[in-house]
Amino acid sequence: MRGPAAAASGAGASFPGLAERLSLVESEIQEAAREAGRHAEDITTIVVTKFQPPGMVRALAQLGITNMGESRHQEALGKVAQLSDLGITWHFVGQVQGKKARQIASYARVIHSVDRVSVLDAIGSTERSTSVFLQLNLTDDPARGGVQFEDLPALAEYALSTPGIDVRGVMAVAPLGGDARGAFAQVAQASKRLQSVAPEATEISAGMSGDFREAILEGATHLRIGTAITGNRPSAG
Ligand SMILES: *Cc1c(COP(=O)(O)O)cnc(C)c1O
Repeated sequence: MRGPAAAASGAGASFPGLAERLSLVESEIQEAAREAGRHAEDITTIVVTKFQPPGMVRALAQLGITNMGESRHQEALGKVAQLSDLGITWHFVGQVQGKKARQIASYARVIHSVDRVSVLDAIGSTERSTSVFLQLNLTDDPARGGVQFEDLPALAEYALSTPGIDVRGVMAVAPLGGDARGAFAQVAQASKRLQSVAPEATEISAGMSGDFREAILEGATHLRIGTAITGNRPSAG
């Protein structure tokens, strides 16, 4: 068995290329921020570790990452329990089932994918305060999660009136194979719309491995990046 020290020094070696991919993505973020006339320090990178083993989260923590994202409750629960020594800020980015919302709020400091009143009620019923992003659906397909543009203000008003909820901003996933820049421009519009109801909800959670540059150019403050940093996921996700 390897002791903790050996495990620590070997973490990078267990995930070849991890440090290199991370620094490449970090330099691409810097570059996009410069291009947008923004400061990279104003942009938070959440490394999405779904389907990846807890050891990778540990390796990322050793590389200085403190914000991790998960999208499946059962998997997240296991990792959070095993990695409680790391001081990670957990973000939940996947679709939230009403029945699981309360439990998710017990470990996730930030829930990015809130799109329903029932989920707000469940999250608001916990002891702690939870930060949320309201998810916007940029497609006509309800299965993709999120609210339609016109329903955002009403959901925001409900969120503001729910105790224990801190509304941070809007979240979206660009439609597959579409024009990411155009999609994120719509998200920027939605952010303005949200701020007319919730002036402090100025943040934007947008941008994944394939489109974080476009998201930064359109004002994203929170990037959710998986495979560009972690490498391919062990199974489809
Ligand atoms: C998986 C996932 C990501 C990260 O996707 P990558 O393409 O691996 O960067 C971001 N946001 C959500 C909602 C996800 O489910």
